[in-house]
Amino acid sequence: MQKNEIYEIEITGMTDEGDGVGKAEGMAVFVPYTIVGERVRVLIVKVMKTYAYGKLLEVLSPSEHRRKAECPYFYQCGGCQLWHLDMDAELSYKQQKVNDCLHRIGKLDVDAESVRLASGETRYRNKAQFPVTPEGIGFYRRNSHSVIPMEDCLIQGEWNETIVRNVKQWMETNGVSAYDEATGKGCVRHIYTRSGASGILVTIVTAEQAMPKKEELIEMLTGTGIPISGIIQNINGKKTNVVLGRENKVLWGQGYLLDTLGRVKYKISPLSFYQVNPSATLRLYEIAKKFAGLTGKETLWDLYCGIGTIGLFMAEKAEKVIGVEIIPDAVENAKENATLNDIENAEFYCGKAEELAPVLVKEHGRPDVVILDPPRKGCEESLLQTVSQVQPERIVYVSCKPSTLARDLKYLTEHGYFVKKVVPVNMFPRTEHVETVVMLSQLKPDDVVQVELNAEDLALTSAEAKATYEEIKTYVKRAFGFKVSSLYIAQVKQKMGLPMGKNYNVSKKGTRVPLCPPEKEEAILEALKHYKMI
Ligand code: SAH
Repeated sequence: MQKNEIYEIEITGMTDEGDGVGKAEGMAVFVPYTIVGERVRVLIVKVMKTYAYGKLLEVLSPSEHRRKAECPYFYQCGGCQLWHLDMDAELSYKQQKVNDCLHRIGKLDVDAESVRLASGETRYRNKAQFPVTPEGIGFYRRNSHSVIPMEDCLIQGEWNETIVRNVKQWMETNGVSAYDEATGKGCVRHIYTRSGASGILVTIVTAEQAMPKKEELIEMLTGTGIPISGIIQNINGKKTNVVLGRENKVLWGQGYLLDTLGRVKYKISPLSFYQVNPSATLRLYEIAKKFAGLTGKETLWDLYCGIGTIGLFMAEKAEKVIGVEIIPDAVENAKENATLNDIENAEFYCGKAEELAPVLVKEHGRPDVVILDPPRKGCEESLLQTVSQVQPERIVYVSCKPSTLARDLKYLTEHGYFVKKVVPVNMFPRTEHVETVVMLSQLKPDDVVQVELNAEDLALTSAEAKATYEEIKTYVKRAFGFKVSSLYIAQVKQKMGLPMGKNYNVSKKGTRVPLCPPEKEEAILEALKHYKMI
């Protein structure tokens, strides 16, 4: 295969990045903007050893899920990947992607539930970052750092258009320069907006400390008629792709944003993380709260807590909440947010979760429930080790990247936990990204049975045995005062050469089957003797 050749191929799968993939000359060919089942004509643009990249020239037989992209920039912009799919196909793609990771990377025999929907497919984001360059203000082109000039974006709030237009005009009228990545010269690097209940916070990221024509900027933005609540200058003098620097100066109004999720109010500084899709976030947190299964007596760790969002959302149901976060501004916000909501049972610490977790155990004892909500790269193994060693009853893992989630679930299931539920949430419609919330609980014999036995197995087993499993359990409970699981009974029966259900000792992939402890074995043997089975 060579560059510039044209092939007709059938799309048979989709990658994690949302590209279609098919085969030609025995090679995998990745083709953006295609859908499984389609026959397409592609121009080969890059050839590697075992795979190639193709550019879509023509869709020969379109999928029933193909639709006209609403966004005029879709085929150039790097922001979204799925405007050519209908929502059904988007949701099944995302569910499939989570499942692939669970099975392939996590080696888990569990499936994700259907993807939960958020309220809107467009205009859902509360945060926008427009790069400002000598070429213009807009968004990055796909796989590139060059900018497509644009004022509006269909997944952003419509007010951004006015803000971008006004900042552009302010720069042109006052001769304020755009930062040039190549030379490191120039002033304005990004326009960063965030919206919430209190209004819109506009942050202008500059390369230098000095803010030229400050009054003019304030006048330009506050005269727009849109509810701007604060204007901030953020200084980022580094040669880096990271948007924000560490320093903020409030130029006008409030230096932070206020927002509400459910009954909880949050204060958010420009540098603090906050989920971008409020209606999906509320769904996500409600599911996470359910998964945490709090009764009011638990110590809850909220690791990677940001501004305390999840922990504070659940605080009313816990005895104590302990949050850990690496960004100092976010920890400050978390503490303020506890006060703002009259929450007195929450404490927040600044540091790396992997470093602070062992200290927390020493100082506060072990947690009953742990929330893990790491960034894309997932958790450090040392943190997973600490968490699995202190054995919280439940772990709720919130993830924005299925592959690292699956890697971490593999570790946790190899260290005493069961994956009980996996629920993806469509936090980022039209993009390839998906948020997932997972409930894990500690390995318990009864849980094993619950997961592994179905009614058919039980019926088969009862028919084979003289005494049913239920009878043996009841006998043991009466005679010894403790419970035994069907799994343990099966193990003892197997040891004694008695018939048993075929699945009783088969572990789900990636999980560990607990062995019957000696005192329970003795009790079961007694029961078997009682029923004259041995
Ligand atoms: N739970 C919060 C934030 C989740 S985003 C919410 O739902 O809003 C992940 C957070 O982890 C970010 O705030 C990031 O600053 C923080 N973080 C990244 N690495 C970390 C580490 N090693 N230890 C603790 N926090 C970390």
